[in-house]
Amino acid sequence: MSPPIYVEWRSVSRESSNTGGLEVTTPSEFLGFAVGDDHRLADWPQVVDYMRLLDQESDRVSTIEIGKTTEGNPFLLTFISSPGNIANLDSHMETQRRLADPDKISDSEANELIADARSVVAITCSIHATEVGGTQMSLALAHQLASEDDSRVRRILDNVILILVPSLNPDGLIKVKRWYDATRDTHYEGSIPPYLYNKYTGHDNNRDWFMFTQAETRLVVDRLYNRWRPHIIFDIHQTRSDGMRMILPPFVDPVGPNVDPVLQSELAALGTHMASELTAAGKSGVAVNVVYDSYSPSRSYSHYHGGIRVLSEAASVRIASPISIDRTQLKSDRGERPTAKSWNHTMPWTGGKWSLKDIVEYDLIASLACLDSAARNRDTWVGNSFKVLRRAVTKQGNPYGYVIPKEQHDTGAAQELIEVLEFADVEVQELTKEVQHEGLALKPGDHLVLTLQRFGTFAQTMLETQKYPDIRHYPGGPPKHPYDSTAHSLPLAMGVTAHELNKPIEPLPRLTDRRKQASFCYDQVFPEASAYAINPKSNASAKIVNHLLAAGFQVSRVSHSLHNGSELLPPGAFVVESSQQLIESLRDACDGKFADISGTDFKPVANAIELRTPKIGVYQSYVPATEEGWTRFILDEYGFQHEPVWDWAIRETDLSRRFDAIIIPHQTVRQIQRGFNQASYSKRYSGGLGDAGAARLKQFAEAGGTLIAWDGAARWATRHFDLPVVNLLAGLTHSDFFVPGSLLDIRVDTQHPIGYGMPSNAAALFMNGPAWRVNIGKSIATYSKEKPLLSGLLIGSKKIAGTTAVAAVPLGKGQIVIFGFRPHFRAQARGTYKLFFNAIYSSVMSNHQGD
Ligand SMILES: [Zn+2]
Repeated sequence: MSPPIYVEWRSVSRESSNTGGLEVTTPSEFLGFAVGDDHRLADWPQVVDYMRLLDQESDRVSTIEIGKTTEGNPFLLTFISSPGNIANLDSHMETQRRLADPDKISDSEANELIADARSVVAITCSIHATEVGGTQMSLALAHQLASEDDSRVRRILDNVILILVPSLNPDGLIKVKRWYDATRDTHYEGSIPPYLYNKYTGHDNNRDWFMFTQAETRLVVDRLYNRWRPHIIFDIHQTRSDGMRMILPPFVDPVGPNVDPVLQSELAALGTHMASELTAAGKSGVAVNVVYDSYSPSRSYSHYHGGIRVLSEAASVRIASPISIDRTQLKSDRGERPTAKSWNHTMPWTGGKWSLKDIVEYDLIASLACLDSAARNRDTWVGNSFKVLRRAVTKQGNPYGYVIPKEQHDTGAAQELIEVLEFADVEVQELTKEVQHEGLALKPGDHLVLTLQRFGTFAQTMLETQKYPDIRHYPGGPPKHPYDSTAHSLPLAMGVTAHELNKPIEPLPRLTDRRKQASFCYDQVFPEASAYAINPKSNASAKIVNHLLAAGFQVSRVSHSLHNGSELLPPGAFVVESSQQLIESLRDACDGKFADISGTDFKPVANAIELRTPKIGVYQSYVPATEEGWTRFILDEYGFQHEPVWDWAIRETDLSRRFDAIIIPHQTVRQIQRGFNQASYSKRYSGGLGDAGAARLKQFAEAGGTLIAWDGAARWATRHFDLPVVNLLAGLTHSDFFVPGSLLDIRVDTQHPIGYGMPSNAAALFMNGPAWRVNIGKSIATYSKEKPLLSGLLIGSKKIAGTTAVAAVPLGKGQIVIFGFRPHFRAQARGTYKLFFNAIYSSVMSNHQGD
């Protein structure tokens, strides 16, 4: 144990840095207020300017912009280290690159590199933008390291390259600051903004660390993680106000089964060290090993890339407004007992005032403790990280790898899966000749992902199915709630076939690097064809169709299967009459996509239902809902035009002229019905849909519209429209039935327009949603009668077996399509996208077939 590194927090409001350090502008000189002052937040442009100013004023600091955020704001990395290290960043990055390639260097080369390497620490702030403390603290941290010259700061600068990410969500800071300032000195001061603080993902923006769909995730993975391979990522968050003052690792069980034990131990050691340094600095209420697990890779990229992610969760205030909490108001929750002294919570907080300055102090002490450990134990951090990667390329376990066959239901989905793996620096190879193995005939062009590679644990974690442990509060008691979803198997989620190899392929056939295919969908013109048919099996078909509809082409869907030369297209193929203009438009539409398009002599007029561009409304509650954001993300990505429609607009207007389909994304029944409370938000933002909104939506459907709702929204609709369906899971306790985010096996009616293009079996991401018996209407997908669980945790299999997962229920001249699962969960559940897209298209097909 190192001696206490920090006795008391030095106020960042000091007028100048006069401890023998370097003259650099202080945050308070720059901002006009001290970091952490009540009611004051540095805005993103100020943070950007300050980090750039430090770059100019100090040779310890280098600030670079690595790209733009989702909404076009600059995204920054600020490197802080000794002047010598800063002058040689390229050479240090090269050292990191070579050490992360353990099969390409000898032991002696490795030892030389380790002796020369620095610990690389990334501190990432305020990805959840209402958790403002991290970003505000980053100014104080940068200033302290740039200006002070004591032995600890010098040790850190010499031994550590700090890559400070002052905000992982700059757009969010701008939005939160704007809302906070607008509500200052009103009754609503300190409330959370009534919109998502990240355009598409809101609070889910830290659930994207394996799918890499968002601009910010892609920047950080590409420009920071994959280039710098940080040994430590310290990720700064905040949580509820009335629990612990700060929570640090070790995380609670279960740990991801493929995370290297060395990384798990280091994580526990560092988290505990940081907690002890906070305690030594007199900061009470610090706990380890409560609430948070690290099972899902969606929140922990580094655990599968030779590093660790330390999460801190400080108690929040009301954005930047202080609060006062009496000890008796502290609440126990999820195993967290803020008033109880214990081995993992050595000095409980006794209550009182709690302010942004407290959060900034805790974050700053934790950051410096983290950096000092990285500095003092530089060779251990660097050496162990290398050992982990070296073990990954030398110690073969079972499974040996995965084959992703070329032949797929949706070729584009398989391509996307491979791109996800490659983005995470997993090596994917292509078979060059036929191989018989474990009863499989592997073919040239099939892709092979071996687990014996440096990031093989990432590949395995994403490609295998999950067996999430059944952990109870006490023997025979209710199950413990996992922190996040329990299933992330990409082949299942994306509807891709992959085979696990349980024996080594020997001799390994010659492999080539994967050939990058620009697109698959359209490589020839069919001069004789009277029309073109777009196979509905690929998700990308929706992109092509929406492009053609927007360009004014007449697109129809064929309701039966279509023989086209040697190919049999399933029901639901899209057909469009051939013309020179069409051929040109198809060429544009197909760029970079993987759809299956062929010439046909089929006449679109016969046995086909004409489509038109659907007019789509997306219900937008003022209570921010991540599923609403993801819905817009997917609609934008696939070229569906849409408009938001708020509570008041639904309550007060006739919607039938404006929209063909209205989507009600998952949210709790209470949030949809009641919205925010009027005591906490003004009239404009409170109230929810209420009975008036429900009546309007019902009218909309009865007049011929299509409503689409899932999970909580489907519960809301079945209740408020009195739908002729029965939720067979209603009233069950978690001991009877519990599925906190698992992939379940569904059987799909592919003859029904909403099932068009789907395989007859698919995996659906289910999260304690409803499951029905349908009395009137059409059941389009049902859970497997035999074994519904494919991946994750399922308690009470018999309760859901054989029940309805997706139904179309007639409402007057229109219909409502209800899903019990999440059809596009976090842009991960791509195998069920088509059900969602088809529900939208069904709104503009003349017969709803909702019988
Ligand atoms: Zn958070």
